[in-house]
Amino acid sequence: MPKQPEDKQQDSRTHQPHEFGGALSTSQINLIRGRFAPSPSGPLHFGSLIAAVGSFLIAKTCNAEWQVRIEDIDPPREIEGATDTILRQLEAFGLHWDGPVIYQSESIPRFQHILAELQSNDLLYACNCTRKKVNAISDNGRYPNICSTKDLSFDGEVAWKLRHGQADYSFVDQIQGACHFANDLYREDFTVKRKDGLMAYQLAVVVDDIDAGIDHVVRGSDLLDSTPRQLRLYEVLGKEPPLWYHLPVAINQDGNKLSKQNHAEAITEHQASQLLVQALQFLGQKAPAELQHENVESIIDWALEYFSIQKIPQKQQIPYFD
Ligand code: GLU
Repeated sequence: MPKQPEDKQQDSRTHQPHEFGGALSTSQINLIRGRFAPSPSGPLHFGSLIAAVGSFLIAKTCNAEWQVRIEDIDPPREIEGATDTILRQLEAFGLHWDGPVIYQSESIPRFQHILAELQSNDLLYACNCTRKKVNAISDNGRYPNICSTKDLSFDGEVAWKLRHGQADYSFVDQIQGACHFANDLYREDFTVKRKDGLMAYQLAVVVDDIDAGIDHVVRGSDLLDSTPRQLRLYEVLGKEPPLWYHLPVAINQDGNKLSKQNHAEAITEHQASQLLVQALQFLGQKAPAELQHENVESIIDWALEYFSIQKIPQKQQIPYFD
């Protein structure tokens, strides 16, 4: 796990703390384009609403566009109709995106092209290890790069791995502060194309973010430890990484993240105002309780005026019991 700074290290954050109360949006830096990138594996729940609201408000209060990208490259995990539901939910919650909705599946030829490029630069190798084997030979669950010298064929049922780099992949997160990833744990070759032939999340997300000109990535802290891998991809692709904003994630009574996998309840339109206010409060914003009696447009207007990135708790997890 990345080191969790105990105190706010606001000096290391790009957004300097604002000295006054009230409307803070003008103190926030200018950005170009952000995104919300749900997978269509089910409807949005309170946990994904946090990422949607957080990414929307950071983009909008920093004068940036907010793109919606449906990450539909894992058909076995997709639920029929989930994309339409997600888009309807976003609209019902007043989270209107800029430009067309992007469908990640349309970028598959582009991912293949990038893979071929990485392959021709000898940055990839094939791996035929089973998960069982990796677990048996590794005490920390991380892949010990054992196929890196075997020169296996890329044909057939093999995962394509990207060779690790030399950098130590530390970065300053705009919410979590300085994040350090120990080299011995994170210098791991990771999968860019899966054994089942599907594109891996790490590759797809970075290539799409680069192609769309995304300059800030806002998402849940559960993805914090994907960031060093994504930094490696930015490095081999010769691109500048975005600013990172990892929001606290909502956890349930058992200490697990609210997720589609553990059947978090879908957010419904008739509770939109109440849930929006709760999402703002979860993100440390002092949204007055009376706001929940207003319509979503008024709540979003309030948020656009008063939202402050500095008020987001510098925590990776926050309990949320509905
Ligand atoms: N598609 C990912 C998810 O639903 C999010 C990817 C990202 O924001 O980097 O968890």
